[in-house]
Amino acid sequence: TEGLSKSTKKLANNITGLATGTLPLDEERLDAIEEGLIAADLGPRVAARIRERLADQKYAKGIDDDGVRAVVADEVAQILAPVARPLAIIRKPQVILVVGVNGSGKTTTIAKLARLFKADGKQVMLAAGDTFRAAAIAQLKIWADRVGVPIVAGDQGGDAASLAFDAVKRAMDEGIDVLIIDTAGRLQNKTGLMDELAKVKRVIGKLDPAAPHDVLLVLDATTGQNALNQIEVFGQVAGVTGLVMTKLDGSARGGMLVAAAEKFGLPIHAIGVGEGMDDLQPFTPQDFAAALVG
Ligand code: GDP
Repeated sequence: TEGLSKSTKKLANNITGLATGTLPLDEERLDAIEEGLIAADLGPRVAARIRERLADQKYAKGIDDDGVRAVVADEVAQILAPVARPLAIIRKPQVILVVGVNGSGKTTTIAKLARLFKADGKQVMLAAGDTFRAAAIAQLKIWADRVGVPIVAGDQGGDAASLAFDAVKRAMDEGIDVLIIDTAGRLQNKTGLMDELAKVKRVIGKLDPAAPHDVLLVLDATTGQNALNQIEVFGQVAGVTGLVMTKLDGSARGGMLVAAAEKFGLPIHAIGVGEGMDDLQPFTPQDFAAALVG
């Protein structure tokens, strides 16, 4: 998309303009390409893999920048293909716990998902489970109103687990298809957060042993390497089952997504490309790879 191609200029600049015309791939050029891929957040392993593939093919007669870009795009698409998976709604109610650090775009993503499922004819309900921040509760209420879905919310400082329990109970009683539960994102207090999320999961598991059916981690793609650390930490803390990457409209760091796919293999369910409720797109590896190499 327009947003994506703007966002990822950096990689294109990093790996092109290195050769004028059609030249063989010598060590020096391979080094420069590998460094460019690392600088664009694709990570050392992916960069080495792409370098190997370029070196392997023995472009004896030479290769121009477009040729290099095509190889990079193809390799990136291959890495991403297994993780691109829309979020399937196959339970009733399907309980989706949404985790992530404050500011990652959690609230906005919940609204976008609600909008998507609603447009698909589903009965959607939200739960304001970030009971730590009054602003988070208020913000989610505004979004629920805008999207036109019911919300279960309590007071600031309330118990997140009992709120989540009430929400799941209501969703069951009211024939809701999809319940999306917000959670606190205080990574500074890792033990507290871990206890809270574990309790939320334990308590709603009493109503449905398979719930939560999804634990979505929302990641701000502009945070590069930091986002990779968050996958690690939230993986331990919450048992993440899938990712949504946000802010891919304004970022120069889309390469992180490739490193994440290679390292963790977690499904990428959707990408955020703006602040509006319609700015959620399915994740399509071919398009993403093409945009990444510009
Ligand atoms: P939370 O603290 O994780 O709940 O984050 P919010 O949903 O409140 O989002 C934080 C900021 O990021 C807000 O200003 C959002 O409008 C913005 N935001 C969220 N998703 C996107 C996105 O995909 N693209 C852009 N450009 N901004 C986003």
